[in-house]
Amino acid sequence: MTDRLYYHDSFLYDFDAEVLECTDGPRSALFLDRTAFYPTSGGQVFDTGVIATESGKLRVVEVADAEDGRVVHYLEVPPKDIKPGAKIHGQIDRTRRRDHMQQHTGQHVLSAAFIRLFNLPTVSFHMGDDYCSIDLDTPTLTRTQVEEAERLANEIILENRPVAIRFVTRDEAGKLGLRKIPVTDRDELRIIDIRDFDLSACGGTHVNQTGQIGCVMLRKTEKVRQGWRVEFIAGQRAVAMARRDYTTLTETAGLFSAHIYDVPQQTRKSLDEIRSLRKQREQSLEELAAAQATALLAEASETNGRRLVVRTFADRDMSFLKLLAQKLTRLSKNTVTLLGTTSPQPSLVFAQSAGQTCDMGALMNETLAKLGGRGGGSNDMAQGGLPTAEGIEAALQHASAALNPS
Ligand SMILES: [Zn+2]
Repeated sequence: MTDRLYYHDSFLYDFDAEVLECTDGPRSALFLDRTAFYPTSGGQVFDTGVIATESGKLRVVEVADAEDGRVVHYLEVPPKDIKPGAKIHGQIDRTRRRDHMQQHTGQHVLSAAFIRLFNLPTVSFHMGDDYCSIDLDTPTLTRTQVEEAERLANEIILENRPVAIRFVTRDEAGKLGLRKIPVTDRDELRIIDIRDFDLSACGGTHVNQTGQIGCVMLRKTEKVRQGWRVEFIAGQRAVAMARRDYTTLTETAGLFSAHIYDVPQQTRKSLDEIRSLRKQREQSLEELAAAQATALLAEASETNGRRLVVRTFADRDMSFLKLLAQKLTRLSKNTVTLLGTTSPQPSLVFAQSAGQTCDMGALMNETLAKLGGRGGGSNDMAQGGLPTAEGIEAALQHASAALNPS
């Protein structure tokens, strides 16, 4: 068993130890007689740092609990000449550790606040790179509950209450009334005691006074299988996130030349404008298609009892072609129309008035086969997309010739 120095002092960033074993395996790893490095457990993620030996510095990239109860330090690169018995000096990354202490102790305070106020127990804790989260065992969670828990947690932080580490027996722990009952067969339990606010068994690293948490900020909440998930961040991480949010909001406000608090109102206004413009545009296109259809039909001559309208556009999309085809085939009972557009996306639309006897789907398939496009349709209406605008005009002439064999 490794002597875990962090059990007694979370602020111990430097320590001396002796190498017990150095393994090569798939990953190089060091086992020490004692360590201040925290291994991933109980929702809290591992420490990183360096281990100085006589032959140089080794970077610790991950720390884990081995099955035999020892702490394993994974190294970035295999060490040279490290023998059991070698003396080392360990240094953990202070910034990372302090952040973990803030998040983790913040979680204790927050979980206790949800219990105190609403009797909502925390069933799990997750610490990620961006944010942390707790899962509450509850079918419902309101915005007011979230805000009240956040307020109480920050009051406890502001009161700067002592956070003590106590070691007690299972029996003693039973009488103390812990918030969290640990699943372990060990007789001695490590208790984190936030004065007159929370008692829970935990093996993680915590601050000494609640003031060192800085603050707790609650963010997204979502319904999950086992209840409600509450995302939160504490301390410096909360400040960094607030800074990032502010930057994003300021950039958005700049686009509207508005104050940041007016962004929702401005966004709503812009979306309303977009919806209204879209409607106007649809109406204009309808009118344009109707006018164009009338003009095209006026100049179309009748052959074999059919009015054939063949036209290629340079700047219409497929939906306009379909709209125009619809107008053409409805305005006149004997229309057959072959439409194409070269941009923005080269496309074809073939259509005929109801009751006409050509096969638009078959004609489209033949034409697409020549041009290497994809599409299809029914007897009365067919459409297709083309890889390039090249050859559209010639293909339409060819198709129209097929309809009116001379
Ligand atoms: Zn803890």
